Order: sequence, then structure tokens, then C-alpha cells
Amino acid sequence: MAWSSKSHPHRLLLTKQFPLGLEMLALFQPVMLAANKIWNSCVWHSRETYKTEGRWPSETELKAKFRAFAAWKELHSQSAQATVEEYFEAVSSYRKHRNNGHGEMNPPGFKPKNCLRTVTWKRQGFAVENNTLILKLSRTREPIILPVPENWDVITLPDGTRVKGAPVEAKVKAVVRRRRVENLVLHVTFDLGVIPVRTEGLVSAYDYNSALVARTVSNGTQDLFVCRELLALMQYRNKITAEFQAKMSRCREGSRRWKKLLAAKLRALRKLDRRIKQMEHALTKHLAELDAAEGVARAVAGDLKDLRRSSRTGMKNKEASQKINQMPYHRMQAGHKYKSIMRRVHLDARTEKGTSVTCGVCGARNPAWRRKRGLWVCGSCKTTMQADLNGSTSFLKRVLLGDCIGRQLPFALKPPRVWRWDRRLNRFVQVSPRAAA
Ligand SMILES: [Zn+2]
Repeated sequence: MAWSSKSHPHRLLLTKQFPLGLEMLALFQPVMLAANKIWNSCVWHSRETYKTEGRWPSETELKAKFRAFAAWKELHSQSAQATVEEYFEAVSSYRKHRNNGHGEMNPPGFKPKNCLRTVTWKRQGFAVENNTLILKLSRTREPIILPVPENWDVITLPDGTRVKGAPVEAKVKAVVRRRRVENLVLHVTFDLGVIPVRTEGLVSAYDYNSALVARTVSNGTQDLFVCRELLALMQYRNKITAEFQAKMSRCREGSRRWKKLLAAKLRALRKLDRRIKQMEHALTKHLAELDAAEGVARAVAGDLKDLRRSSRTGMKNKEASQKINQMPYHRMQAGHKYKSIMRRVHLDARTEKGTSVTCGVCGARNPAWRRKRGLWVCGSCKTTMQADLNGSTSFLKRVLLGDCIGRQLPFALKPPRVWRWDRRLNRFVQVSPRAAA
């Protein structure tokens, strides 16, 4: 997994996994159990404070409270603090959801006593010396020393360049399946530094929609990605969640049947999420590869802050926001961004407001020309094209010329290419343009 850092738009962070084997369990178990104890202490203390004082304790308060605990002294101080930070983040997101009207959310709860909690080592908590990783514990304990393979910190970019990363964070996670610990995995995040991007080249604009992704490039190339399968998977995911929720509401919370249903629900969702993420990954990779292959230097996507306006659905209620939020746009754009940087293409976001109701060719604006079934029929220059491609073309024009209204397209459009998900090949393949209808 990788992502781009907030500190610099072209700084790349990437996490690599190293399986450790079950024989390491004896070394890590006490540490992971100590982290679990800190978590449970956070839950207990927060609940008490909420009950007696009607407020949630702050992060600093929790950290100060547990400093003297025995479990705190098992871990490196930064690792212990990281556990509190994770708890605090979970509480914050719970409160945010609660305030947004999701009354069904529960606050983060106690974990079973024997739960092996993921332990994080921050920058000062580990050291690297001659192919070994030294994970520090508290001052009174011996550190854990792990051998690491040669070139463990080298990442090859798609163009063949090898980049050496600086490790910035390490985590040890337990892989648990059906309540059995199957393995321990070391996750190391590397800072690959700022990747130099192209300074000269074409510009591409993207319009993400629930079932279609439209792309227009400044040399006239047009692409339409049909993502119906992805949308169908998202809808199926909601259906499964609702079905389990209905079944669970009929039995007592915490009962044996309720627990069985919860486990089955999580299993079903995990399986579905793997398929959803695979499709998203294939899509964003394909987009970045097209840009790299066609000499694009700058890609522009819609600003996701605009999504809440829900003008596309014409609904202003809760239902509308649910419909929009079904699609994991943020995750998709984050994936698109780092995959672009890896291929030396800069991606940024800009508002696409109004681009879907302006003609991509002549720049005349009229919402009524966006017809049903995804067709744009311009009443001024008589252009007929797929509505989302019209949107991405107008969007590109805004990026190139500063505005899309009243501006003529400065280049000719090529016939659009249409791509569809191929279930057997597990990737997007080009199909005849009729498939988009
Ligand atoms: Zn027109």
C-alpha cells in the first residue's frame, strides 16, 4: 500500500509487509497484550469520565493517567502513546458519526483479554543496523531484534528506477482467522522522498461518477470507463449489511446467536471488500498508466468537497448523501494520486461545478441540454456526445483556459474509447463504443 504525504504533494510513502512466522509469537505476545491492556484502560477511563462528568477525556489526559501503569512500562513510550492516539482517533470518529446522525454507531469498546493488539513503533522507537531492525521496548527491557532481507528498503518505480526509502514507522500485526493466530506480519512504512514529476506534457481531466469515469486529454483523446460492476458490488454490500442488521436486531445483543451473526457479517463484508478494492485498484492503476504512456504531465480530478452538494441526484436529504457516499471516492482519488506520482504525473483536484451543464465544444451553458440516459445534446452547436465525456471535456477546458463557459474547445476530439471490466481477466478491457449506452 502507498499514499502521498500531506507535507509535499509529490512525497511518496509506501508500506511493505514482511511475514515474521509464528515462532516470533513468544517475543511479541507480551508486548501486544500490554498494548491491549492500555486500550482497555482507555475504554474504561473514558466511560467512567463520560458517566460522571458527561464529557470525553482528552488525549493528553489519558496519556498522563496511564504513564504509571505496569502495561505502559512494557512498551516503548512512543508505542504506548500510539495506542492512546489510536483509541482517541476511534472515539473522535465515533463522535463525528454520531453528530452526523448515525445513531446506530457504538463507541469503541473493550477487547478480549487475550487479544493481540497491533503495536506501532514510531521513528524514535526503532533503529536499523546492518540488516537488522531493532524494535525498542521500555528502557528496562531488551529490544526485539529482527533480521531484515537485503534491499528491504528498495522500491522499484514503474519506469524501472530504484528508490531507497527511509523507514518512518513499523507495526507488528497478528493475522487471526477464526480466532486462531495464523501469523505475525511486520508492516514497515518507507518515505521514498519527493518524486520528480514531469514538467512538460499534456493535461488530462477526470470526471468520476457512480457508474462511469470519463477522461479527456488535451490532445483530444477521450476515454469512458464503465464501472457498473463496481457500483453493483457497493450496492450488494449495503444489502448484505442491511440483511444482517435486520437479523441481529431480532436477537439479544451479545447473545450467542448475535455473536455468530456478527462474525458471519464481518466475514461476508471482508470478502466483498477485497473484490471492491481490487476493482478500484485496477481502475486507478489503469488511469495512471494511460497518463504515463500518453505523455500527460498533469492530471486533474474533481474536488471531492463538491460531492456533498448532491446536485447530480437532485436530492437534498440523507438518502442522497448515502447514495453519493456509497462510492469510495476518497479512497479512489488517493489511489489515483499516488499511482500517478509513481509514474511522474502530478494529480490535483479542482472544482468541477457547472462543467456538466456546459457544452464541451462551444461553451454554451444550459442544464436542459443534459438529457436522460447520459446524453448531451447542445442546442447551440448541435454537438451530441456522452454526457460525462462532455463534463470531463468542459472540465479540461476550465483547467486549460481558466473557464469553460463561452470558450471554444481549442482542439478536435477523437472518437471515445470505451473500457469495461472483464471478469475473467480481472481488468478493464477496451470494448466497442456501443457498450456504454
Ligand atoms: Zn455546443
